[in-house]
Amino acid sequence: MTELSKRGERSPVPAEWTYAPAPESRDIVRLRERYGLYVGGEWLEAAETYSTVSPSTEETLAEVGQASDADVLRAVDSARGAFENGWSSLPGSERAKYLFRIARILQERSREFAVLESLNGGKPIKESRDVDLPLAAAHFFYYAGWADKLEYAFPNRTPRPVGVAGQIIPWNFPLLMLAWKLAPALAAGNTVVLKPAETTPLTALLFCDVVRQAELPAGVVNIVTGDGRTGAALVDAAVDKIAFTGSTEVGKAIQRRLAGSGKKLTLELGGKAANIIFDDAALDQAVEGIVNGIYFNQGHVCCAGSRLFVQESIAEPVIEKLKRRMATLRVGDPLDKNTDVGAINSRAQLEKIEELVASGRDEGAEVYQPPCRLPEKGYWFAPTVFTNVAQSYRIAQEEIFGPVLSVLTFRTPEEAVEKANNTPYGLSAGVWTEKGSRILWMAERLRAGVVWANTYNRFDPASPFGGYKESGFGREGGRHGLEPYLAFDGAETRGG
Ligand code: NDP
Repeated sequence: MTELSKRGERSPVPAEWTYAPAPESRDIVRLRERYGLYVGGEWLEAAETYSTVSPSTEETLAEVGQASDADVLRAVDSARGAFENGWSSLPGSERAKYLFRIARILQERSREFAVLESLNGGKPIKESRDVDLPLAAAHFFYYAGWADKLEYAFPNRTPRPVGVAGQIIPWNFPLLMLAWKLAPALAAGNTVVLKPAETTPLTALLFCDVVRQAELPAGVVNIVTGDGRTGAALVDAAVDKIAFTGSTEVGKAIQRRLAGSGKKLTLELGGKAANIIFDDAALDQAVEGIVNGIYFNQGHVCCAGSRLFVQESIAEPVIEKLKRRMATLRVGDPLDKNTDVGAINSRAQLEKIEELVASGRDEGAEVYQPPCRLPEKGYWFAPTVFTNVAQSYRIAQEEIFGPVLSVLTFRTPEEAVEKANNTPYGLSAGVWTEKGSRILWMAERLRAGVVWANTYNRFDPASPFGGYKESGFGREGGRHGLEPYLAFDGAETRGG
């Protein structure tokens, strides 16, 4: 760049490479003023509603129903009816047809869904378009393939559906989490009641259109919107299984609530993943992996690489390269195709990030943020990196769920393992080294459900995902992801 600037004095070569705005049009999305609850294939009016906003502009997008306890019971009844009146006894090959249809419709309508996801959640359009939507469709394709092969997936165990699944999802990947939950449940022959997060209900509500377009029998998928009260009502209702993704705190409360009830439970909770860089790693690639690990989706990622462990001998050049790379990240309008870091999902989440970042400064860590102008309206936080971090600091212990990285160092592989495992969580980890033997040695010792080698944040529907310790239990994705939705020979259908 310096070279070019110098030449710029003599020739018309631009001295600065800035991007012109490239906004994606939002015309493709047709919002209704008010949304009801999707129960038994019909829209039900909720007595109470709340406004859902765009976190990048604070503009109200629509009014959405706050489902009451009675609404939730109605949705569960409708799911029970659909389960007993045909869906559970439909041949797997017939269920597969519906799932294939849903996958194809999601592909056909992917632009509409991607724009709406970015509008309601604040994530950059290039991520919703290139990650969330393709993966959501891939999940339906993948589980469609299993629907008529359950006996082969679990030989000699005679699998059968569990019944009605209550599913509660968070706001960081609204449609993708819906796909992770619905696809295996339906493939296994269950019916569902799903509650999206309070701040991001719109793609789940648009998905009801897809359910209709695919002519899924009424009551197989029911969607009830609302806040934590709606989630709690679903946990208490007469469902056979709860699948929850969200905070460890709420996950623990749900587990306590369900103890002794016989309902099946899977929990996918928080994380504080270690991304570990050895001195023989390809540093430029590793820096891309660090950036992807923590700044992807504004760091609203349960498996985000939020603790960076760098081998001491290369700490300086890695941090230098990282800071230089951070200065090129474009923060701003989620609907601009050049945006790398979008809006923080809600005011509450922004306040949480600000509070934890203040604690990092107070405890003595050194903070760096690249110069960037944040929009005036909306919820924003600049990409941030902390150095001089001690393991005891809150920023090294607690899940921040924002674009904030804490850097620590290590000298030996043993020390890296010990420090990486020094967390109540155990969802994911990353290892960067050119030695395959070291990758295997590390992967055996890291207490994390997923260990990425020389990459980060890679997902595939065929690969199981889930945690250890306070990151939860149960797996989603792959053949493993079917098991929580099935009961087996000798086990009771309910709570088997
Ligand atoms: P929550 O765990 O509160 O939300 C997850 C889902 O659970 C939402 O649909 C929520 O509804 C619902 N819920 C809330 N309370 C209850 C309850 N008592 N019973 C049943 N369901 C309930 O996460 P938050 O959105 O409050 O985020 C807080 C923190 O959690 C974040 O800062 C982050 O650290 C972490 N988090 C982790 C995620 C992960 O993937 N591991 C995802 C999201 C957050 P509602 O949206 O209406 O509150």
